[in-house]
Amino acid sequence: MKADCIFCAIIARKAPATIVSETDDVLVIKDIAPKTPIHYLIIPKHHYNDLQELNDCCVGSRLLSTAQQLSQETPQAKDYRLLINNGYGVGQRVFHLHMHFLAGKEFTDF
Ligand code: 5GP
Ligand code: ZN
Repeated sequence: MKADCIFCAIIARKAPATIVSETDDVLVIKDIAPKTPIHYLIIPKHHYNDLQELNDCCVGSRLLSTAQQLSQETPQAKDYRLLINNGYGVGQRVFHLHMHFLAGKEFTDF
């Protein structure tokens, strides 16, 4: 757990969030400012600042299998988009690795 990290605080239940699912190493919460009807954040419980720091292939694999499971469990999320912002220059604002799970609307851009 890293001090001053909002996602570490949420994982430790020291800050509020709407929790969608949880396993030993992954937490899924609803994004506080959803950009699509379904907008979840898939977050490894271990603190990595960004994808470049991820050094555990099991964790990477579990982030993806969590997305598969969310899709299976959510009727509106048969089709979905995954997004990782890696670095401030492309929009990363929370520096605890997370993957956006976006669904419930038609995407017309790439
Ligand atoms: P990034 O821009 O780093 O890829 O994404 C950060 C995301 O985290 C944003 O979509 C933002 O709305 C969301 N977010 C930031 N702070 C909080 C928070 O305290 N709680 C929740 N649930 N989401 C947050
Ligand atoms: Zn953190």
